[in-house]
Amino acid sequence: MKNVSPAAITIPSSLLPSDGRFGCGPSKVRDAQLDALAADGRRLMGTSHRQPPVKSLVGSVRAGLRELFSLPDGWEVVLGNGGSTVFWDVATFGLIEQRSQHLVFGEFSQKFADAVAAAPHLGDPSVVASPPGSHPAAVATPGVDTYCLTHNETSTGVAMSLARPANIGDSLVVVDATSAAGGLAWSPSEVDVYYFAPQKSFASDGGLWIACCSPRAIARIEQISATKRWMPASLDLKIALDNSRADQTYNTPAIATIFLLDQQIRWMLDHGGMSWCTQRTTESANTIYQWATASPYASPFVADAAQRSHVVATIDLDGVAATDVNAALRANGIVDTDGYRKLGRNQLRIGMFPAVEPTDVNALTTCIDYVVERLRN
Ligand SMILES: *Cc1c(COP(=O)(O)O)cnc(C)c1O
Repeated sequence: MKNVSPAAITIPSSLLPSDGRFGCGPSKVRDAQLDALAADGRRLMGTSHRQPPVKSLVGSVRAGLRELFSLPDGWEVVLGNGGSTVFWDVATFGLIEQRSQHLVFGEFSQKFADAVAAAPHLGDPSVVASPPGSHPAAVATPGVDTYCLTHNETSTGVAMSLARPANIGDSLVVVDATSAAGGLAWSPSEVDVYYFAPQKSFASDGGLWIACCSPRAIARIEQISATKRWMPASLDLKIALDNSRADQTYNTPAIATIFLLDQQIRWMLDHGGMSWCTQRTTESANTIYQWATASPYASPFVADAAQRSHVVATIDLDGVAATDVNAALRANGIVDTDGYRKLGRNQLRIGMFPAVEPTDVNALTTCIDYVVERLRN
């Protein structure tokens, strides 16, 4: 190998994507969203979240998500501060009655299982694990009242199709959809709680959790709340539910995050909703996986094509260091293509959320080929 400094490689501008943000969260925020915030934000930023302007913005987000996901009557969109990580604690207090089961197949699903295992008021969780790069299946288990699934394991690029496990009676199906929501298809009939944060497929900023809740989930929230189980008010799902019904949050939210989220939901709906979004992510995914499969030095990490995520692609490299490729890309304005550090593989990880142009994913593959050719010579 010749000593080419990655940062010294200049990709011809004609090959570059129109936008170089391919991170998996925070992810690309479209210029039009930021322009709208600059143009219209003055009306909202710096004003009370208890007054009609911000409350109607929250109402617009709640109604928009209901429409985007075609939520049946009786479903409610609940939100609070803290992101998906905080929602794990919220669920530990307010959704799991006694014992949960967790499908663990990466860092994020592991963290929720760990949070539950540490909770003194719950039984030891049932954990069904599979090696990174695959996903396990739920196992109906007596005594388990909540089955915890992850729609897209952002750490490994594995997606699972959501189906209510057989023979689980009235147990809840609770899905971490943090990176999937808005980019992968799902059906409310298979799920009771579909929760996420807005900095991934919804092209906004972090700090908020949003949970779409079925009537069965609402009943569970109310039932646990009635038992007077101790829980911190900031993690109390019944308090969050009551505030959400009034288009508010329990404490002050980041208004810009909600504004950018609303912009993205409107953009998705204006273009045709979930079918349009999943068409885009599928097109991007086909581009990247076909390129990697044909490449002499790249290959998809996820062996089973059916489990390859359409929003987060993990691509193994052979014969070239991913750190060098990433450094060369970053020097040319293409950022956050780094693999998940704890996975410890020579890998690129690429966010292909709805905001990312499929043509830019194609341009990215050309740019990767360009830098690898120069790094390997
Ligand atoms: C990003 C992510 C999280 C953590 O989200 P935060 O908002 O940072 O807490 C949890 N689960 C999955 C699947 C994620 O992709």
